[in-house]
Amino acid sequence: MLSSNQLTQIVHKYLGLYNSTDCIQQFCKWTVRESTVGGRGIIATEDIPCGEVLFVDRPLIFGPRCGNVIRGCTVCSKFEDDGFFKCSLCALLLCSTECQDFHTDDCNIIAGWKKKVDIEEIDEIVMSHALAAIRALSLNQEQKQFMSALAAHTLPQHGGEIIKLKQYFEIPEEIEKDMIFACQALDTNAFQIATPYGKKEMSLRGLYPVAGLMNHSCLPNATYSYNDERQMIVKTSRFIAAGTEIFTCYSGILWGTTTRRSYLFKTKHFWCKCERCADPTENGTMLAALCCLANECTTGYLLPIEPLKSSSSWQCTACGLRVPSKIIYKIQVALGTLISTLDFQNLEQMENFLMKRVTKFVPKVNHIVVDLQCRLIWEFGDVQGYRWHELTESRLSLKLVLCRDILATLAALGLEDSHLCGLLFYHLHATLAERARRHPDLYDGLKSEIESTIERAYRILRGDISAPVDLELRYRYLGPDCEKPQQERFSILSI
Ligand SMILES: [Zn+2]
Ligand SMILES: [Zn+2]
Ligand SMILES: [Zn+2]
Ligand SMILES: [Zn+2]
Repeated sequence: MLSSNQLTQIVHKYLGLYNSTDCIQQFCKWTVRESTVGGRGIIATEDIPCGEVLFVDRPLIFGPRCGNVIRGCTVCSKFEDDGFFKCSLCALLLCSTECQDFHTDDCNIIAGWKKKVDIEEIDEIVMSHALAAIRALSLNQEQKQFMSALAAHTLPQHGGEIIKLKQYFEIPEEIEKDMIFACQALDTNAFQIATPYGKKEMSLRGLYPVAGLMNHSCLPNATYSYNDERQMIVKTSRFIAAGTEIFTCYSGILWGTTTRRSYLFKTKHFWCKCERCADPTENGTMLAALCCLANECTTGYLLPIEPLKSSSSWQCTACGLRVPSKIIYKIQVALGTLISTLDFQNLEQMENFLMKRVTKFVPKVNHIVVDLQCRLIWEFGDVQGYRWHELTESRLSLKLVLCRDILATLAALGLEDSHLCGLLFYHLHATLAERARRHPDLYDGLKSEIESTIERAYRILRGDISAPVDLELRYRYLGPDCEKPQQERFSILSI
């Protein structure tokens, strides 16, 4: 195994920060060292202010995510349309002759294996899932060394993509081993790559080797985003004191503790014991809270007494009722089933469910509700029938309240500079701006918040591939530095 110093050198070289020690000092305020939570981690070597870029990582390998069931072009990630075809040499799905010209590296590897079946019989979803691992075969020695220095889970479920691939091809044992190792490294370390805002593209995963060295916390102090070259920009999301470990969050940031911990255990094989997981209220956000089961108790929340124990009873914050973990588990499963019946494309159904049904079972602060609220925020103002000019006043007000509520939750978790916050500031701004566009007499009262919210959104999201397309335009016309008269500022909204 490589020492931390050797690994630091590889990391610096990979990031282009090598040569003299001075040079590294100048650019890099962190190093790779033993972590406080086990294994290795990235540790700050000096104080780092909030919002500073820590490093820009690029993927060693990337490819479609294993959860994808939709068919998409394996080169440009576009969803299925009429023109899709399977390459007659490698069975990868392509959308055009242009993309075919781009896939020769992948094609050459796969076409070199003897086929056990006809091309037509090969499932392109299996090909798509195995593609990232297949690409690991093209790595050079140095890149392979870096990949092998990353943590990798060796349980039998990691590498299932390759077992399926072997139904179709005769793959030499050494190559199979290398691909299985790539799957293990991917499952342990890969990040989902963001897609451009509003564009429907196949979801990709990438093995970002430097970011992969960051350990997990449910209260992370770093945030990341992607630019249009699939580079990952990792920034501090709070002030980080020298000697502190730099953490990212591997799970949904707004999921409740039970959901986060079981996801982390299932996918990353550890039980998180961070400060947030140990706090039943999760910094006062109550994201995991369920409604009290006592009929007469209308205001109480059920929360785990000992959140780090999955067998812990839950207790009501108001009447003190204790509920055993088995019953809580049944309620959570039933809720999951209820949510799975929802059609997320049907906004009216979702809105009804959110406003009238779900809060009978869970409080408004519960993460299931928060997730549905986010979905409504993203769609209101954007989709057919709910575009800005079509939104009723009550929907506009609802969007405003939801943005503010979720921003308050994120603030309680200390995540004001996260990507999600940037998006919420953008939507809060757009809602306020729409209100001022409809009622110009309200503009004076709303002006300072319209300006400050787009400024915050712009500061967090600029350069981010998943930022809304009119982010910059809105910042220029409706941000604090715009000197244009009111009417001209709002001209961008009437398009
Ligand atoms: Zn394509
Ligand atoms: Zn091909
Ligand atoms: Zn945690
Ligand atoms: Zn109660």
